[in-house]
Amino acid sequence: MTEETCRKVVEALRRRDFEAEFAATPAEAAAMVMDEASRAKSVGWGGSETLKQIGVREKLEKSGLEIRDHQLEMDLFLLSANAVTADGRIVNIDGRGNRVAASIAGPKRVVYVIGRNKIVEGGVDAAIERVKRCACPPNCRRLAKRTPCAATGKCADCDSPDRICKVTAIFDRRPTGVSAKVIVVDADLGY
Ligand code: SF4
Repeated sequence: MTEETCRKVVEALRRRDFEAEFAATPAEAAAMVMDEASRAKSVGWGGSETLKQIGVREKLEKSGLEIRDHQLEMDLFLLSANAVTADGRIVNIDGRGNRVAASIAGPKRVVYVIGRNKIVEGGVDAAIERVKRCACPPNCRRLAKRTPCAATGKCADCDSPDRICKVTAIFDRRPTGVSAKVIVVDADLGY
């Protein structure tokens, strides 16, 4: 996706009541996140490869901030999205639902970092299809899950007990009462 598309997604997210910013580089996105973190005492981690890739996890650890995995009570919750539609809908699919839960209720502030590779044309169906095609197989391999997609790279809509896609959240708008910012980065980040 091009810079123009990233900027259009930012505009679309704003129309959907999210704070949204464009970042030209991963370093710019990391600086925005660390600026948010400078006002927080506790930071929740949504298990994001994107945030690791832009160096935020390392910076947070060095900063001495308390980092909590999968807890709801915190000042700032950091995550990415599995997909965002070109018209600004965020799609996240979880196994336990803890990441989705924390992005809706609990934290005082929620900040998403989304690389341009997560943008899909074609609406929510295309977004879900992207998640099953691009995100679940590598995530299953990374987590050593015994699922068809880990073995073949393709989703089989499995009944495996290891299935990681069980809860699908579609954000049509910023949830009421949630203070949320989305940073769209003109770089391929995560999967
Ligand atoms: S349904 Fe099963 S095979 Fe399909 S993406 Fe999810 S874990 Fe993989």
